[in-house]
Amino acid sequence: MTSNLPQPKIAVVGYGSQGRAHALNLRESGFDVVVGLRAGGPTESKAKADGFVVKSPADAVKDADLVAVLTPDMVQKKLYNEVLAPNMKQGAVLLFAHGLNVHFGMIEPRADLDVVLVAPKGPGALVRREYEIGRGVPCIYAVYQDKSGKAEQYALAYAAGLGGARANIIKTTFKEETETDLFGEQAVLCGGASSLVQAGFETLVEAGYQPEIAYYEVLHELKLIVDLFYEGGITRMLEFISETAQYGDFVSGPRVIDASVKARMKDVLTDIQNGTFTKNWVAEYEAGLPNYKKWQQADKDHAIEKVGQQLRAKMVWLQANASQPDTDEQAAA
Ligand code: NAD
Ligand code: MG
Repeated sequence: MTSNLPQPKIAVVGYGSQGRAHALNLRESGFDVVVGLRAGGPTESKAKADGFVVKSPADAVKDADLVAVLTPDMVQKKLYNEVLAPNMKQGAVLLFAHGLNVHFGMIEPRADLDVVLVAPKGPGALVRREYEIGRGVPCIYAVYQDKSGKAEQYALAYAAGLGGARANIIKTTFKEETETDLFGEQAVLCGGASSLVQAGFETLVEAGYQPEIAYYEVLHELKLIVDLFYEGGITRMLEFISETAQYGDFVSGPRVIDASVKARMKDVLTDIQNGTFTKNWVAEYEAGLPNYKKWQQADKDHAIEKVGQQLRAKMVWLQANASQPDTDEQAAA
């Protein structure tokens, strides 16, 4: 499959969670990769230590056939308008890992460019780790603008270079990727899961139970359940838990996550679809993140974090960096 795909010269702009993983995987898949970063920025030394040629974003994109925009979403509009649009080659490919800026009209790409999306369904560290062990993270891709007639081929070549073809590659649209990605992280993955855990912890501690026991019960054990979901869906979990746990799941799960929760999930989705969420997020970012910082601090100050820190210190294997292959040695050290 990959043999018929194009081999563009790639500039990766941004070297954070996704940028580093993409640049390393693409280089090992045989692509010519240069990294674009602001001089003196926080990740410049990392990219250099990984052996990349690092240029300013303007210089990096000048002779690239494909530019991957892997900076935080909120800086992409300014970066595109001030640096990418004036410097990218005619007919080049502009690639995003999340459709937010294009879908909500904050970036209006030049008419001569191909504009595509390749979004791995996992954080950067996993995109890298799976590639290193010969596997891949599923990728979804989309075409927004196809000037060359080959935009889809470019997206597929990039997704294959990330290792996504080893897992699965699914075609989507900028609208579907943007809206489902935002919904997933807000309602279920990040927002939903962390709020569920905090509420469960508070319920037990307020009822007088030890915080240590509450931590193991509602946070630590969640990993075991999620691993079963990942391997074999909810069916696999049911196969592994006791009859008592299953009965409790059936009678109490829908009491906690009831129709009112689903109705509020639909409200969250509506706010995403009609642009309210993005409008509020842009305003918060432009105001200097006052609420964002307050909420982030509140999460960090929650009682579950203190007890978690103490309990995790006893699980020495957790201290090894999970994305390093030699974790056993590190854990023993
Ligand atoms: P990040 O915050 O981890 O890294 C950002 C990088 O961009 C850093 O190297 C930073 O120094 C650099 N940067 C910041 N401002 C810059 C500027 N003005 N000019 C040049 N470089 C600049 O970002 P991330 O989480 O990897 O997100 C990148 C993109 O990937 C986003 O569109 C995000 O939505 C998408 N995405 C992220 C994940 C994830 O798991 N983190 C998953 C899928 C998609
Ligand atoms: Mg996501």
